[in-house]
Amino acid sequence: MNLKYYRLKIPMKSPFTTSFGTTLDKDVIIFELNHDGIKAFSELITSEDPFYGPEDNTTAFHIIKNYLVKLIQNLPSPEKFNEISNFIRGNNMAKAAMEMLLYDYHSKVAEKPLFEFINEKPRGYANAGISLGIDKINVTLEKIQQSLDKGYKRIKVKIRKGGEVSILAPIRDHFPDIPLSADANSDYTVKDFKTLEKIDKFDLIYLEQPLYHDDIIYHSKLAKILSTPICLDESITSPEIAENAFEIGACRVVNIKPGRVGGLYNSNLIAKIASNNKGHAWIGGMLETGIGRSFNIAMASSELIDYPGDTSPNERYFSQDIVDRLFEMNDGIIKPFNSPGIGVKINESVLTQFKVEEGVLS
Ligand SMILES: [Mg+2]
Repeated sequence: MNLKYYRLKIPMKSPFTTSFGTTLDKDVIIFELNHDGIKAFSELITSEDPFYGPEDNTTAFHIIKNYLVKLIQNLPSPEKFNEISNFIRGNNMAKAAMEMLLYDYHSKVAEKPLFEFINEKPRGYANAGISLGIDKINVTLEKIQQSLDKGYKRIKVKIRKGGEVSILAPIRDHFPDIPLSADANSDYTVKDFKTLEKIDKFDLIYLEQPLYHDDIIYHSKLAKILSTPICLDESITSPEIAENAFEIGACRVVNIKPGRVGGLYNSNLIAKIASNNKGHAWIGGMLETGIGRSFNIAMASSELIDYPGDTSPNERYFSQDIVDRLFEMNDGIIKPFNSPGIGVKINESVLTQFKVEEGVLS
């Protein structure tokens, strides 16, 4: 088994602003496994800074190099990998990068497309929504119209404390009936419940992660006050926490980012928990390249994922992606590729253009 990694710096098409800051170019780490003529890939979803979650590129790479690579030497099944890597606490993003590598590898061995390999109930396509960063309101309104014209099935806007009404009111004035949601990325605290009540009049499908990044208790209190359903994103880091969150009524919707929950195996478990609790689930993203994106689209192509996700086609974020095939969206639907595994591989000439480092891990 040969395991390589590539570090790349890919320019973003346009700056993407959330309550964490603005991204201009993306530091990407890709893994490539070679064994018996099969080539598998995965992408680490951490970024340079530990602002979205506790891991960053440096910490995750350390965990992979010094702990996880040993565990994948014999190419265990992803389920087995989940079990044997459990002694390492947390570090879900690092674990997910190795778990997804194994999923791509094993679905290629089984000669099945990943979306069929992982989903008990494959639907065969992902419903696409769009997530819009914070911008001047006229720019946002224009972007919403363009997104609707392109067929996106749900519009999500990022909001910041104090700016919620000035963002949402003009949107609702211009677009009274569109499926709209708002993502606060934990910008509010328990002192802001009164402010958050103002959001109810905008008839959102859900309000995403208003409070602390690791909280479910305060969210359950807020859920009792708001008529807007709460969607948890950052707080859902494991199937156990998802179970607890539904149990105490902290959310009715979950945003599953496969990379944040340790991979696709846990993503499936969380989607089942949402469904068993009459909740809803969708698949989020972390501005991945076509490698990471293909795992998200495979996961989003399950019947259990009943809400549109943040699963745009490739050209949305990067002027040039690093893969040889690009996803297309038609009428708000993105189909995974019907070839074994993730169905994409690295485009060598683009790789050379953006590569800043490469190395062998095993
Ligand atoms: Mg979010």
